[in-house]
Amino acid sequence: MKIKENIISAINNCSDTSILNQIYNDTLKRNDNLQKSYNDWTNQQTGEVFDLHMRSMMYEDLFDDMCMAKYSKMGKYLDTPQGSLKEDTYYLSIDAHYYKFIVTETTENGETDIFERTIKINPQFVDDKNIILHEMIHAHEHILSLVNPLLKETLIIELYKHLFPKFKDLDCIIYNHANISHNSDLAELGGYHGLLFMLKSLDLDFRCGNEPFTIFGYDYNRTFTELNLI
Ligand SMILES: [Zn+2]
Repeated sequence: MKIKENIISAINNCSDTSILNQIYNDTLKRNDNLQKSYNDWTNQQTGEVFDLHMRSMMYEDLFDDMCMAKYSKMGKYLDTPQGSLKEDTYYLSIDAHYYKFIVTETTENGETDIFERTIKINPQFVDDKNIILHEMIHAHEHILSLVNPLLKETLIIELYKHLFPKFKDLDCIIYNHANISHNSDLAELGGYHGLLFMLKSLDLDFRCGNEPFTIFGYDYNRTFTELNLI
């Protein structure tokens, strides 16, 4: 189905102002509001937030696959007859989607709100790269969903293939993590951490020279060590 063409055609043929207003308020205005609050945020940053923002921009290189960089493990999906994704990766960055860092007391170490586009970091973790990367995975997962959920599915496959030689028991780790009951309990505790999240967190641990599951958290390093899986 040609969704884009159908929407454009429907708008062109619509003469009902109330419907057009509704479309504007639901979609375009929301984007305008997000852009405005992002601009206000960049203009009013404290030194601490500015520093955090700059570091997050440097960390974006670690998300080359989630930004669909041509040189990344996802690059091959750009070279398809159907491919129409832009070649620059900025449009998939957290800045391009108006994500704002806020240093504030939170119940968790950090919290990502995909509706408000905020990443809250507890003051005691403002210099903690692992906490920041954890929250950035949440934001990037959301951005991929906005572009095309297929990107998340293909990235799961690519990360799995990439990580498989590094973990002798990757399948068993996945069985444990994706156990329905366990994952529901985990979601109650700290929000949704699906398979893509777990695999990307392991990839980042490797890239940063961490112990496995440092970025994932939730005591997974101890749990999987005790199970003799890592
Ligand atoms: Zn999380």
